[in-house]
Amino acid sequence: MKPLEQLLRPNIKDLKPYSSARDEYSGEAAVFLDANENPFNAPYNRYPDPYQRELKSHIAGIKNIPPEKIFLGNGSDEAIDIVLRAFCEPGIDNIVSIAPTYGMYQVAADINNIEVRKAFLTSDFQLDPQAVLNQVDEHTKIIFLCSPNNPTGNCFRDRDVLEVLKGFDGIVVMDEAYIDFAPEKSWLPRLNDWPGLIILQTFSKAWGMAGIRLGMAFANKQIINTFSKIKYPYNINILTQKTALDFITQKHTQMQAWVKEILSEKKILTNALKQLPFVQHIFPSDANFLLIKTQNPKKIYNFLVEKKIIVRDRSSVALCEGCLRITVGTPRENRTLISALKMF
Ligand SMILES: *Cc1c(COP(=O)(O)O)cnc(C)c1O
Repeated sequence: MKPLEQLLRPNIKDLKPYSSARDEYSGEAAVFLDANENPFNAPYNRYPDPYQRELKSHIAGIKNIPPEKIFLGNGSDEAIDIVLRAFCEPGIDNIVSIAPTYGMYQVAADINNIEVRKAFLTSDFQLDPQAVLNQVDEHTKIIFLCSPNNPTGNCFRDRDVLEVLKGFDGIVVMDEAYIDFAPEKSWLPRLNDWPGLIILQTFSKAWGMAGIRLGMAFANKQIINTFSKIKYPYNINILTQKTALDFITQKHTQMQAWVKEILSEKKILTNALKQLPFVQHIFPSDANFLLIKTQNPKKIYNFLVEKKIIVRDRSSVALCEGCLRITVGTPRENRTLISALKMF
């Protein structure tokens, strides 16, 4: 990786962050008269811990990553936005992204006026490392990868990801939102080998907490410190910190049990979908959803909507022509879907 000072935007490199009352004093005290809070209405009258220390220490234990290499955001969405704002000068710098992939990279880049240069996946949705590296120019600061990828569902091969990491001296973001469902290993244990690597994970999928908005970014300490300077001081509210902490400490086995059940349901759903004459192909999935190719996706989509079943129409996405993306639901939801499709 290039020195971080060369990759960061100059205004971010020199940024003096907002110093909150809780920054200036964070020890144990009996009387807090420093933040103009209402002294009544406990427990929500106080500002939350801006660095989420207790929650991070528990996540550190689960992930086996020290807390100083963890950033927590209002969903992964916040981390995606902050990476862009830290490294890319609007109107000048660009990012390279794969296609098809998660739509937020493009939207976040558009909002920040940052060009997205796209490298198509191969016809079987594998990463083409040379195609990615060919899109890099002298203004490319970040490459966004997503494995398992959304909406294709597959993990990328290690050797292809390695080729990208070796061939680029900027920041590589690896979005692992679905990694808990995948047979492949996370890149987390290899974080130390790649100073420019940022790994994103989330509480929105396997952990079953999309509603509390909590995303994680893992990276070297310097990068995490930079993100902490950029974020809103109190970006993770008390309710979210407490809900996540309670779940992790009291119900930590629940997540693995859900993953197991969802994966077994995915098999059942796959077999049922295979029987349907209009399903031409079911792409291999390492995630909690299936991408299926059909002859008439829009008709099927509308037919299901009439039956109050909503799937995702991805048929207008390049390389996903004819495709619908279906999340694996509860056994009952999946049976409802299959019964409906049998009537199509
Ligand atoms: C669902 C998803 C996320 C999660 O986003 P949150 O903001 O954490 O809810 C991130 N990346 C990908 C690829 C996803 O599909």
